[in-house]
Amino acid sequence: VSEGESSIVAVAVDAPLHAGMQEPLLYRVPAGQAAPAAGTPVRVPLGRRRALGVVWGGAEAAGAPPPEGMVLRELEGPLAAALPALPGSWRELVTFTAGYYHRGLGEVALSVLPPALRRTSPAALARRVARLGAGLAVPADAATAATARPSAARAPLHATALSADQAAAVLATEAAAAERAAGATPAPILLFGATGSGKTEVYLRAAEAALAAGGQVLVLVPEINLTPQLEARFTARFPGRVIATLHSGLPPARRLDHWLLAHLGHADLVLGTRTAVFTPMPRLSLIVVDEEHDASFKQQEGARWSARDLAVWRGRQLRVPVLLGSATPSLESWAQADAGRYRRVAMPARIGGGAWPVVRFADLAALPRPARGQPPVVLAPELLAAIEARRGRGQQSLVLLNRRGFAPVLWCGACGWKSGCPHCSAWRVFHKSDRTLRCHHCGFTERVPRACPDCGNLDIAPLGRGTEKLAEQLAAALPQARIARIDADTARRAGALQRDLAAVHAGDVDVIVGTQIVAKGHDFRRITLVAAVDPDGALFSSDFRAPERLFALLMQAAGRAGRDAAVAGGSEMWVQTAFPHHPLYAALAAHDHAAFAARQLEERAAIGLPPFVHLALLRAEAKELAVAEAFAREAAGLVAGAAPEAAAVTVHAPVPPALRRLAGAERVQLLLESQSRPALQRVLAAWLPQLHALRARHRGLLRYAVDVDPVAI
Ligand SMILES: [Zn+2]
Ligand SMILES: [Zn+2]
Repeated sequence: VSEGESSIVAVAVDAPLHAGMQEPLLYRVPAGQAAPAAGTPVRVPLGRRRALGVVWGGAEAAGAPPPEGMVLRELEGPLAAALPALPGSWRELVTFTAGYYHRGLGEVALSVLPPALRRTSPAALARRVARLGAGLAVPADAATAATARPSAARAPLHATALSADQAAAVLATEAAAAERAAGATPAPILLFGATGSGKTEVYLRAAEAALAAGGQVLVLVPEINLTPQLEARFTARFPGRVIATLHSGLPPARRLDHWLLAHLGHADLVLGTRTAVFTPMPRLSLIVVDEEHDASFKQQEGARWSARDLAVWRGRQLRVPVLLGSATPSLESWAQADAGRYRRVAMPARIGGGAWPVVRFADLAALPRPARGQPPVVLAPELLAAIEARRGRGQQSLVLLNRRGFAPVLWCGACGWKSGCPHCSAWRVFHKSDRTLRCHHCGFTERVPRACPDCGNLDIAPLGRGTEKLAEQLAAALPQARIARIDADTARRAGALQRDLAAVHAGDVDVIVGTQIVAKGHDFRRITLVAAVDPDGALFSSDFRAPERLFALLMQAAGRAGRDAAVAGGSEMWVQTAFPHHPLYAALAAHDHAAFAARQLEERAAIGLPPFVHLALLRAEAKELAVAEAFAREAAGLVAGAAPEAAAVTVHAPVPPALRRLAGAERVQLLLESQSRPALQRVLAAWLPQLHALRARHRGLLRYAVDVDPVAI
């Protein structure tokens, strides 16, 4: 950018694309000021407000010259002189994300910066940057010392011997680091490690080597709940290193501090959830994605990017090793490894020789029917007896039911009324503890009516069961057992989840009734029996990824059982199902993810589903279904003429999603698929801009959005 009184810069700002504005927006640099360098966070006027923006370059970065005679507004200046510009690699990552997921550049850029950056004043930010630098004098010196004497610093860390599997995996990470040092781009490593095989130790060793070489390490985890335990392990392993955590649960000021530590190069390690993939890190030399199969790596609003996929992209961009870890890798990553593009490293053995649980099936079809007037059967009698036997030996059981609340619906036997949500095509769930009916989709909550709202019948009854009812039933069936329920409802209060988990660890609980939040990641030592009570729904879901998610959940749940080698009576997993011979359960019984993945991939190849085709989903919402449908139909009609590559793109007829009505909006989705990713991308790039104009002709359309590589259909 030339200095001069009329210099112009392009600035990425968070302005909606729908406004039809050219982006980034052009601003005039005030006379006498030097034009800020590309990547500089600046303050600019935007409409009637002042906004944070990021300089993207000179006038040429805006793509088109300003219209003749247009008077450009003046930017106010850099956010803070002490704040370094965001690097070119960060701007490339944002540019790629905006382009690939077809959202505004400024929208993506501003949404991945810490929210507190927008509100802070230049003076406050300058003080913050100075304080962070000063406060680090001691740890930074310690870090330097460790770098200078790597062998001395490493000696006490290698007290634990590696298993043969772990040693092989560490060798693979060392090979990737060596490729990087030689100037090559290492292939991502898919660390296919069984639950309890010691994946974290492999992450730690790879991180240790990267830190010793002066690098920074980025570790992504799917859930906020899992960051404290991982942070504890990294802190214990790397005393003196600066570790920054980044997730939405942090107070905004802390989150800004941690982001600044990473950006300024002070933080050695960054642990975070999905948005952390965008953290600028000047010495980044290793990226770890733990539980890479987890759907929460996909952003579900605004720009719907996948942090896992962007981590791989960033690894290639910076030529740094990427370590994708999972006991049940996503089929996308599995197929990449099959094709030789990722390096698959298997760690099948559990540390300490922990045995796999024996998988048993309780056949729902064979359940005895309750006699007239008798209460219904809570669980298959043999399963109930197994749980009681575990309790008798002082062991714990985990009963998994992926449905919270007391009952999924209330029902009037006299007139057939059901507790529907007035705003969604869904039932409101009965929560007995606070006597409410709650919609789990839009949150609409009301007191339970005393009588049927339609006919006045006083005898309205719960249908089906959730965790609340199951816990109550188990308490009645096993009067001596201490039962704890853990789900999103019990975890709502601050600290409640930690307290409940501590009680489990302390042995104050015999039976845990929980949803998937207890199946993930937590390391329970005393659980020797895991039971999945009602998992069949996912076998017949309209979402083709439902079986993959179910299998991952059940494998993870199985991994909770018996991680210690010598458990009295071994460990067991129960599946209460109407389909005990289903191939998915057969693969579970054999603990064979490879067989499951091979079979699923074969099916998907035959039907033409990802990863063999590429998908994009257009979602349209309107108060009236007909409006959303008409918009989607006309949008579908525009695809063929959008670009020459449209011949390679199949457009399916618009259909309502499984949840047709959500929070008062009728929804329609339109699926585009192609075997060619570039063809799909070119069609989307030409087609989506036409929808701005189309929208104007459909009054009543609330919103529409495109989801590239959707994870839920
Ligand atoms: Zn009624
Ligand atoms: Zn609702």
